[in-house]
Amino acid sequence: MICLRDGRGTTLPGNMHSFEYRNGSLFCENVDLAGLAAQTGTPAYVYSAATILDHYRRLDEALAGVPHLICYAVKANSNIAILNLLAKEGAGFDIVSGGELFRVAKAGGNPAQCTFAGVGKTEAEIREALQRGILAFNVESEAELAQINRVAAGLGVKAPVAVRVNPDVDAHTHKYISTGKSENKFGITFERVAAVYEAASKLPHLHLRGVQMHIGSQITEAGPFAEAVDKMLPLVCQLKIRYGIEYFSIGGGMGIVYDPSLASGAPGWWKSDASEGRLTVAEYAAAVVPKLKALGLKILVEPGRVLVGNAGVLLTRALYVKQSETKKFVIVDAGMNDLIRPALYQSFHEIVPVAEPAPQSPPAKVDIVGPVCESGDFFAQDRELPPLAEGDLLAVMSAGAYGAAMSSTYNSRPLLPEILVHGDRFAVIRRRQTPEDLVRDESLPQW
Ligand SMILES: *Cc1c(COP(=O)(O)O)cnc(C)c1O
Repeated sequence: MICLRDGRGTTLPGNMHSFEYRNGSLFCENVDLAGLAAQTGTPAYVYSAATILDHYRRLDEALAGVPHLICYAVKANSNIAILNLLAKEGAGFDIVSGGELFRVAKAGGNPAQCTFAGVGKTEAEIREALQRGILAFNVESEAELAQINRVAAGLGVKAPVAVRVNPDVDAHTHKYISTGKSENKFGITFERVAAVYEAASKLPHLHLRGVQMHIGSQITEAGPFAEAVDKMLPLVCQLKIRYGIEYFSIGGGMGIVYDPSLASGAPGWWKSDASEGRLTVAEYAAAVVPKLKALGLKILVEPGRVLVGNAGVLLTRALYVKQSETKKFVIVDAGMNDLIRPALYQSFHEIVPVAEPAPQSPPAKVDIVGPVCESGDFFAQDRELPPLAEGDLLAVMSAGAYGAAMSSTYNSRPLLPEILVHGDRFAVIRRRQTPEDLVRDESLPQW
């Protein structure tokens, strides 16, 4: 049986399983993925609403010891139906662009619970965010503070800001998703933060509302979070006393289990760079909440992956099986344009057949590859999988975060549909693009 990879590496009780075999077929909640694929076609992203809600509620509970706001990191999965699901739970949002702010508003999210992150906010984005009344800008440079002050002056308002501090801790994660080391482009160096606040306090159109950090993504141990909080605490205290800040955002970055064979300690045939593991939201909270309690500030968290990562799969169908001299390739109808994580981050995704393999079927090593004209277009290499044949449906697991959101139409492949399952029902929350959609915004020059 496949247990729900929920960040705890354990199965949720009762009917809270989101992906499991029933009667020989993989189900998402109460929906048979084989039947679903027959209706929607492949490839397609499928999400479990129950899993997202469960993860959100468990994090909310784990943080109960401090006044807090969960600001979902929209970039992980920005479909408005997902945002709406979380908005109805009372979530805030962490956005990185004007486009994401537009999505949040469209989805019924409250701009007053939105923090705006990112090193390159444009003047138009800053103006739009001020007009919509966001909670705060998480500011990444002194030049940006000056720019926000200027735009706010033009509108005759005070802009709420927090400075993003780079605490210079090592999150032990992939270099592309590590953000809290001094060599990263993010935030302001720890040692300079006090002076930056002092200078910002003299800018008349800024309201110093908080302080923020974010040390990286897919962090699978509590240590780096605790270390960063420890380092920040005296500074945060000082900022509270001096400028009356209201919140401390400790960022996102909680990791999930991509490879259950590693998390369970069972021998795996595939090993990642040993950063794989499991971190429960309870362990995460236990490592930081006691330290944060005495601050008397509102605590913001900005989780993306941990809420949606294990709540989604990429459904794909085997088109061809090809045996070369040295390797067996299973060519599937999804490609790196649909899910770029393996190519970009060398990420592991568990892959399972939708039809439950017979227990005695002997596994064989295969490469699961897509149709895109790039050698980096693979989902798995030398992976031991049950025998696969043309036409077989496969689920690429844990594809709910940084999957659809990072997809492109490279090779002129239309964007995939996204399907949200809730109990017995499912809804198409993004339709499959058509070839017409691909060229809709293009035109021939009129000369
Ligand atoms: C990407 C990002 C997050 C979310 O990261 P996850 O690893 O998905 O939790 C949170 N805060 C900031 C500033 C980010 O850039």
